[in-house]
Amino acid sequence: MSATVLELPPGNGTVRLQVIDTGSKLLCKAETLLEPGIPGHEYLNLPNVCWLVENLNTGKKVLFDCGVRKNFKDLPPAALEVLRVSTPGLHVDFDVHDILVKSKVDPGTLDWIIWSHHHWDHTGDPTRFPPNVGIVVGPEFSATHLPGYPSNPKSEMVEKDFVGRPFWELDFDTNRTIGGLRAYDFWGDGSLYLLDTPGHSVGHISALARTSDMNFVFMGGDICHFPGVFRPSPYIPLPNQMTKAARLDTYFACPCAASTFTSIHPKGEEAGRREPFYKPSSGPLSIYQDPSLAYSTVQRLIEFDAHPDVMVCIAHDPAVAETLPTMNKGPANEINGWKEKGYKEACHWGFLNQLPRAGKPGRPKLVEKYKCEGTLYDDVEGLKTGHSNHFKSLL
Ligand SMILES: [Zn+2]
Repeated sequence: MSATVLELPPGNGTVRLQVIDTGSKLLCKAETLLEPGIPGHEYLNLPNVCWLVENLNTGKKVLFDCGVRKNFKDLPPAALEVLRVSTPGLHVDFDVHDILVKSKVDPGTLDWIIWSHHHWDHTGDPTRFPPNVGIVVGPEFSATHLPGYPSNPKSEMVEKDFVGRPFWELDFDTNRTIGGLRAYDFWGDGSLYLLDTPGHSVGHISALARTSDMNFVFMGGDICHFPGVFRPSPYIPLPNQMTKAARLDTYFACPCAASTFTSIHPKGEEAGRREPFYKPSSGPLSIYQDPSLAYSTVQRLIEFDAHPDVMVCIAHDPAVAETLPTMNKGPANEINGWKEKGYKEACHWGFLNQLPRAGKPGRPKLVEKYKCEGTLYDDVEGLKTGHSNHFKSLL
């Protein structure tokens, strides 16, 4: 591995970090999120994680992202239109609020829910939280998205989510940067930095949490949607032979030659070992607000990913959802100690399992159609009207 020039900040504060499976599973059209197209990878399987962050000095707690609200059929029309265009499958089994309660975390003890960005698969249902729990958003959020629906019929946001609770729009107007990204020291003790990571959405932010002295977890939200957008890299190229440590499916030989994957790499076998498979989509169906800005942001992310003291996790990485010990699996599970436990290596190459095999999808579709509050709907029209065709399609 070549060295990266990324400099991590010293600091006294640390956090306890827990990862939560939000209960939502998405199937997205690849062309809305990635380019170029690779035959057999027309759909992306996107589980969805968020994070509970607790300051170990003060006991203060925040959520970073909040999944999809379980009653997502009641989202504003503009949000349902994004769903229709990008996401032909979505199943939501519970709210993040539900998993907190089940894990004996009182939702009222949270200070803030930090949204990486405005999309419905990250904002959850704030109305389920008591009014002392505020919402933190990135720069220019209000001007772009508020007021919410129905005051503004075209807004993707829900007006009542904001009523009666603190609201904080971040200002990155400081000289602090980390790894080339503007940074805000959230609690002032170096335990949690919010990072300006624009491109996917106006005001998109990520978080960098100090889990021990100089070890960090980079919570990327939707800085990009698939690890193949920032892996492999010149710092961590695909090894000639992938071993058991890569956690490939049993479909693959072990060890498995890098050419198994680079043979479908858009840049060819040689460059394909050192460059990511994809870029953020700039096509007509892209749901990236500024694809070239997102690409620049991803170049910074590659530096973080290369650093041995940082574990990068994006919200929709299937390997993160499959591999890490979520709060759902055990209320006391935490990510602290990730380096000693080998979590970074365990997640790093898992995305290769999603790539096509012989031109066919590597993994089956995670979900199809829309499951909302236990009912299956064929399409977004059905969601809107409450008309389920499920029984018809069974006949
Ligand atoms: Zn998302």
